[in-house]
Formats: sequence, structure tokens, C-alpha cells
Amino acid sequence: MKKINYKEVCIVTRCPMCGRGNEVEVNEEDYWDWDDGVNVAVAFPYLSANEREMLISGICPKCWSSMLPPEPEEEEDF
Ligand SMILES: [Zn+2]
Repeated sequence: MKKINYKEVCIVTRCPMCGRGNEVEVNEEDYWDWDDGVNVAVAFPYLSANEREMLISGICPKCWSSMLPPEPEEEEDF
């Protein structure tokens, strides 16, 4: 069992596209694992894909969505 008692650290990233600063909160121990070379998805399983991307490249979700081609809206009604 892992100790519940952990420290959260705030990683500040800056988006290279829009220059906006973003903060991602992670467990400090996980941060050091990541720093050691652990894959970001393994080190921070609780982060969303957007948050992981901000840690890797700094690119914020807004810029990501502006870079990606717009997805055709396929809303299925059940
Ligand atoms: Zn941005």
C-alpha cells in the first residue's frame, strides 16, 4: 500500500503556441518517477490526456484543438 500522505506539487508549463501559463497538479513522488524517465502515462495515470500533453510539450488544450482538424460531429442519439 502506498502512503496516502503525499505532497502535491504544481508544475507550471507555458504553452509555446499562445504563451499562456498552465498549472498541472501532481503527486510529488510521481513527479520524481517521471523525472527518472518513467512514461508520463505510467507516472500520472490520474491525469487527463490534455494534462499529460501540457507536461510533455506545454501545449494547452485550446491550442491542441486549434491544431487538429475539426472532427465531424457524430452525436449518436440513443
Ligand atoms: Zn496555448
